[in-house]
Amino acid sequence: MKTWIFLAAFVAARLLASQAAFVEVVTNGVAGFKDTPMQPDGKWHVHDPERPQPPVVMSGTFSEKATPPCDAVVLFDGKDLSQWRDKKTGGEAPWRIEEGIMVSAKGDIETTNQFGDIQLHLEFREPTPAQGEGQGRGNSGVFFMGQYEIQVLDCYINKTYADGATGGLYGQHPALANACRAPGEWQTYDIIFNVPHFGAKGEVETPAFVTVIQNGVVVQNHQAFRGATNWRSPGKYTPHGPTGPIALQYHNNSVSFRNIWVRPVPVVNDP
Ligand code: MG
Repeated sequence: MKTWIFLAAFVAARLLASQAAFVEVVTNGVAGFKDTPMQPDGKWHVHDPERPQPPVVMSGTFSEKATPPCDAVVLFDGKDLSQWRDKKTGGEAPWRIEEGIMVSAKGDIETTNQFGDIQLHLEFREPTPAQGEGQGRGNSGVFFMGQYEIQVLDCYINKTYADGATGGLYGQHPALANACRAPGEWQTYDIIFNVPHFGAKGEVETPAFVTVIQNGVVVQNHQAFRGATNWRSPGKYTPHGPTGPIALQYHNNSVSFRNIWVRPVPVVNDP
């Protein structure tokens, strides 16, 4: 009995300590953190609520009948989740298919295939009516090589710390623009991702680079990752191989996806 009481007290104390260690602050209506490490540029904390918000850019028109190029590797065409698996267990992907649309649920998923330098297209739709605020509204994400995240969030009239908004390299680089459409509207991501390269001792020779076009608006222009995505940390590289899976995040919100395809696009170093 005594052991149980001691254990319960210990767990409660740890819980309180861990909550106290992460103090969210609200500045100008933006919730974020000031007790996190500084970014390497020394200007902002990771998830700093005072970091400038990406300017809002209203996107142009959008075709509802987009189809993949003929040489694309189709990752989702509305029929099944055969190209995906549960990221944690490697088992069946736990997401739902509803009327040809993939809906996030239960856990992260990743492709069964591995990719290197690629062009990725996907379409996503945030839940309507919008629920939650900040990071709690329509949160998902696209992880290249399973570890470098481009954030997916409902940032339509929803502020969050700049390095955690849609189109951002989460926790690292905010988007150049907020091109979010309203929840319930389909949005596009066209992303070019270049893998990082490591030297013989594991040092970073070239970082991972990413260019992101959201709804026809460039929101990242050949931006370097500072390392694998992490919460409350500016990111760190751990050497890895030349290919990895594409993962999609489940972050307690039901986000819809459709028309997902990829094209391997080698980097040609030929000036
Ligand atoms: Mg996310």
